[in-house]
Amino acid sequence: MRSIDDVDVLGRRVLVRSDLNVPLDLSGTGDIADDGRIRASLPVISKLSGRGARVIVLAHLGRPQGATFEERAAAGPSLRPVAARLGELLGRPVSFATDVTGPSAGETVSSLGDEDVAMLENVRFEPAETSKDDAERAAFAGRLARFGELYVGDGFGAVHRRHASVYDVPGLLPRVAGDLVLEEVEVLRQLTTDPARPFGVVLGGKKPSDKLAVIGNLLNLADRILIGGGMAYTFLAARGHEVGNSVLEADQIPAVKAATDEAERRGVEFILPVDLVAATRFAPDAEHSVVPVTDFPANREGVDAGPQTRALFAEKLADAQTVFWNGPVGVFEFPAFAAGTRAVAEAVAAVDGLTVVGGGDSAAAVRAFGIPEKSYGHISTGGGASLEYLEGKMLPGLTALEEDS
Ligand code: ADP
Ligand code: MG
Repeated sequence: MRSIDDVDVLGRRVLVRSDLNVPLDLSGTGDIADDGRIRASLPVISKLSGRGARVIVLAHLGRPQGATFEERAAAGPSLRPVAARLGELLGRPVSFATDVTGPSAGETVSSLGDEDVAMLENVRFEPAETSKDDAERAAFAGRLARFGELYVGDGFGAVHRRHASVYDVPGLLPRVAGDLVLEEVEVLRQLTTDPARPFGVVLGGKKPSDKLAVIGNLLNLADRILIGGGMAYTFLAARGHEVGNSVLEADQIPAVKAATDEAERRGVEFILPVDLVAATRFAPDAEHSVVPVTDFPANREGVDAGPQTRALFAEKLADAQTVFWNGPVGVFEFPAFAAGTRAVAEAVAAVDGLTVVGGGDSAAAVRAFGIPEKSYGHISTGGGASLEYLEGKMLPGLTALEEDS
């Protein structure tokens, strides 16, 4: 992969695909809850602008719903607050187009001077961005590609998506990898190339269906896999435990059982929670208490790891030489249910070897706890992307950058 240092950008219109999919405040104000991904995307944008490029940033936010651009644009979320935040961090205004390939985008791009930076509206407002139909995506990609003379793939958090702005646009232009993508790939390469042992993995987050595929490949790599968060309930149910109203993917139980059996055959240790914080409802001020996994109340839902689980996880990480952590082990957005995730964040920070935190929410949690980022070897901006890399999958957004132009 070539980098931006290998190309001349002065006066050229450069399309930069960044990952600016920041978490928004859960209370629905639309405020940016954590701007880590904007900060991580800053170096490339700033460098290109500094070298006289005309920078056009492409990015997505959330999962817009609706059949047409108009419906999606009306429902949001808009990237406008993200453009404003990027402008503050850059120290120069970022002009914003209210559409993706429409008249506003056209005007915004044509009025760019050298060093100027613009952002187009949420690419996922265009249903073609994520279409499974190659021709539909290609047509949209063609319209986007006309805006640029060079493509920079820097949106690591989206490289596992076969989406128009990630996969199809780079095929139509000279292309290079951005600094963030190069850095992320290098760390993942280290994790998968003869890692120091024991290698511990912590997986949390909401649903096991997101992460079961990676568990298969992690069995080749890790010595211990600690399962927490919402996904733990399906694992607990697979072992015959009651889980009340907790998030459960009953259809994943057979797959979870198969993964557990395979781990046993290979001598990989699977560690599940032993106690949980059970709340009366999903709310920051819900009544809650600690319960053992063997006695989960029917009308409650699990929202965090209990104190014994926190200690168990810390113990299982204490002697690790390599750690990969993806996914909060509780609903950390609610301070009352953040203790489990904090315990994991602290245990990982205390490890001496290579530690990688992957995932937008996990990274946001670390920063919300005020743990210095340098306590970790690397904080990845891409949860899904880093998991798919570890799965050994081809990542479309990386493949697209590798081919010769
Ligand atoms: P990352 O972004 O780090 O990859 P995920 O997106 O997979 O992580 O998962 C993060 C989400 O999982 C958080 O919003 C968190 O609230 C949620 N979560 C964690 N534990 C639970 C739980 N017990 N019940 C419901 N949601 C949970
Ligand atoms: Mg997430």
